[in-house]
Amino acid sequence: EPAVRLDGVSKIYGQGRNGLLALDNVSLSVGQGEFVCMLGASGCGKSTLLSLVAGLDSPTAGRIGTEGRRIAMMFQEPALFPWLTVSANVEMAMRVQGVAKRERQARAAEFLEIVHLGGFGDKRPHELSGGMRQRVSLARALAQDADVLLMDEPFGALDAMTRDLLHDELERIWRERGLSVLFVTHNVREAVRLGDRVILLSSRPGRVVEDFPVTLDRPRH
Ligand code: ADP
Ligand code: ADP
Repeated sequence: EPAVRLDGVSKIYGQGRNGLLALDNVSLSVGQGEFVCMLGASGCGKSTLLSLVAGLDSPTAGRIGTEGRRIAMMFQEPALFPWLTVSANVEMAMRVQGVAKRERQARAAEFLEIVHLGGFGDKRPHELSGGMRQRVSLARALAQDADVLLMDEPFGALDAMTRDLLHDELERIWRERGLSVLFVTHNVREAVRLGDRVILLSSRPGRVVEDFPVTLDRPRH
């Protein structure tokens, strides 16, 4: 049973003549523990696809299965609350889930350690670099006890060196925690670097045109 499954999913924004076909009959799956990269040009429907999987919007046609999974999403902009400390930001989702304060704090500290921000819980987001803020966002996603991570160009705004570091970090966490990841990007190198599989999406409308395993002999950490 895959972690995420799309069967003949289409999405039309708007109505009638003004309708825009963003996704056209997309079928794909992400296996448990698999790291799948979705590659496509800007506007091909990558964000639309993720928002459907996350349940933020409904498909016009087709089925999406994520049976009993906890899904967390990461965006290009980390969307942290600027007036809250780093730790309070990580605790936010747990607060919504009704986790008691002491456990929230303990888990926030644990996940900040995992992303190498152990000493930064009391800082405010603006005191951190872009890469560090994205690490906070990753800690927040993990703290929700998610087993599926949806990532929408999470490192697109970072410089190449910071991105490389975060690739290594994400790969380590993915392995250690057995996450299922669907990672969208328009960066070919990034997709091949990270993915077990790469799915290529065409533009206008978004359609799966390739779905291939990455078999390059590349360094794995
Ligand atoms: P990507 O993430 O690959 O850049 P998007 O999923 O954001 O692509 O967009 C796919 C297409 O759907 C684009 O043509 C975009 O303009 C359109 N679109 C996205 N969201 C909406 C919306 N809420 N209403 C209308 N059109 C939208
Ligand atoms: P990242 O790779 O996470 O973007 P940087 O390259 O910006 O991090 O910073 C490298 C290191 O410098 C960080 O891991 C951190 O230890 C330290 N650092 C960066 N900015 C700050 C800050 N505002 N306060 C304290 N330490 C910082």
